[in-house]
Amino acid sequence: MVKTDTIIIGQGLCGTWLSWWLDQLGHDFIVIDNDRPQSSSRIASGVINPVTGRAIAETWMADQLLQFCLENYTAFGDSLGIHCIETVDILHSFPTAQMRDAFDKRLPQLPAYLTKPEDNGNWENYFHLPFGLGIIYPALLIDLNLILSRWQKKLRDHHKLHIETFDRSVLDLSGGKVVYKDFMANRIIFCDGYASMQNPLFNRLPFAANKGEALLLKIADLPATHIYKRGLSLVPFPHAGERSDTQYFWAGSTYDNEFTDEGPTEAFRKKTEQQISNWLKLPFTVVDHWAAIRPATIERRPFAGMHPVHEQVGILNGTGTKGCSLAPWFGKQLAEHLVNGAEIHAEASLERFSRILSV
Ligand SMILES: Cc1cc2nc3c(=O)[nH]c(=O)nc-3n(C[C@H](O)[C@H](O)[C@H](O)COP(=O)(O)OP(=O)(O)OC[C@H]3O[C@@H](n4cnc5c(N)ncnc54)[C@H](O)[C@@H]3O)c2cc1C
Repeated sequence: MVKTDTIIIGQGLCGTWLSWWLDQLGHDFIVIDNDRPQSSSRIASGVINPVTGRAIAETWMADQLLQFCLENYTAFGDSLGIHCIETVDILHSFPTAQMRDAFDKRLPQLPAYLTKPEDNGNWENYFHLPFGLGIIYPALLIDLNLILSRWQKKLRDHHKLHIETFDRSVLDLSGGKVVYKDFMANRIIFCDGYASMQNPLFNRLPFAANKGEALLLKIADLPATHIYKRGLSLVPFPHAGERSDTQYFWAGSTYDNEFTDEGPTEAFRKKTEQQISNWLKLPFTVVDHWAAIRPATIERRPFAGMHPVHEQVGILNGTGTKGCSLAPWFGKQLAEHLVNGAEIHAEASLERFSRILSV
């Protein structure tokens, strides 16, 4: 038997950040991940946007999360010898006069994040802008594939990663222990994204799985130094870690909670191509097309903590559309909770579901 303190299932954003924080705290762990190429973390655009939705509202904990993420993605990247985060602006093209007016109304209320340029500048060369532009700043842009793949390599090199599909049927939790195949641990933490919805220990949590699709586009002459938004987003997509001269843009997404299959759809591709043609003045080609299921929740708050009955079993999940910022923050809280009993934020703590999970 191989002994370890913690087994982590999944190496998406949640498993990556939880394992990083445990590593920082000198805590022993192993990660089991099946290396699914189209997981939510693998196809996400990597944006942390301080404002959200049609109401242009400040996102939950935006202030704290922006600063925290900038510092900690930088530190994580430094430890891996990579540069994986940039501060960028989001150029918001208003699709209607109403949207422009709504933005104008929010300007004095959110001066830390919203501004308006004097005019459309040379952006008219790139986009149709009948209702002008607003600017959201600062936003953060993370090179997710770079950080996930480099952390995967580091875990592998240190014999802490097992690439396989975790099989719940051979997990033995009897007598308060955790035995899985050749491993014996003090605890097991599920960071397996929407797969947790099928886990009998957690399937009573209010998950609200949500499918998102995205296209990878090649656009030769569009500056790759901004995120562009008009309903959908065009996000510079790094090529081999190089963002500045990239010609690739991520285009998406959808928020579909009535999906019948997990794959990319022709309908999304056609609709998105049409939307982009109506907005962008430059030619573009579609290079790839992805789909994945976001582990979203009904109350839009994550799940972090230990099961009330099986105290050796925990979860870090439910980051929905905000995994880039919530996974590092709550990964840290959960790691500190495991190592020295620190409190987890009440709105994210699994304790709020103690009754439902104890039935
Ligand atoms: C199209 C799209 C765009 C997005 N854009 C953004 C964005 O710009 N900003 C943002 O903050 N968020 C974004 N998100 C949301 C973000 O991707 C999620 O919040 C986050 O990635 C969830 O991470 P996770 O680790 O919980 O789950 P996942 O990414 O699903 O990771 C789970 C991991 O567990 C593994 N796994 C599952 N079951 C098993 C098993 N039985 N055995 C072994 N391994 C297993 C999977 O292979 C995977 O590696 C986007 C999501 C989508 C779909």
